[in-house]
Amino acid sequence: MSQACVTRWISCPECEASCRDHALPPGTELHCQRCGVRVKKASGLRSLQPAWAFATAGLFFAVLANGNPILTFDVAGNTQSNLIVTGVFSLFQQGYGPVAALVFFAGLAGPVLHMAAVWYVAAACCLAQRWPALRRVAKLAESLEAWNLVPVYAVATVVAVVKLDMLGTVDWQQGAWWVLVLSLCSLFTVQFFDRGLVEQGLEELT
Ligand SMILES: [Zn+2]
Repeated sequence: MSQACVTRWISCPECEASCRDHALPPGTELHCQRCGVRVKKASGLRSLQPAWAFATAGLFFAVLANGNPILTFDVAGNTQSNLIVTGVFSLFQQGYGPVAALVFFAGLAGPVLHMAAVWYVAAACCLAQRWPALRRVAKLAESLEAWNLVPVYAVATVVAVVKLDMLGTVDWQQGAWWVLVLSLCSLFTVQFFDRGLVEQGLEELT
């Protein structure tokens, strides 16, 4: 029997039911028979290399975005320059512990963990390496996808700056550019980290 005839099963992301996988014509989708959720969509993608590339770049830009001030805020001669993590500390000191934790996770830990998980799985598939806990990391990457909120953070910052501009002078700093590039990288990482390709890659490894 040739490799192409072997029946593949993929599990539904919602109810874990096993769905029979098959080659999908362009523009069609595979839905779970039990709950109707989309399990796989036809994609023109052939490999996880773009996801790997964007995750690698994203991790570098995450370091730069967090290591450089985003903006300086000048009100009546009082100048302050801020890193992402400065905001988290200020919120914590003002007694907004849960909000600080949320900002830390959604603006910093979540995106970095998501891209690190994508990096691990995509690298293993591209290099054909059977690294430990690949399936668990792939699941983690999937569940963290919704928590990669850097693009939202970037838009919120722009809105905040428009408001702050009425109170004092706001100057963009280098970190803002890194946040912008990081947002683009995380959007592309999500776009190229195709579930069907991951399942296929992991199956070929194990
Ligand atoms: Zn289902």
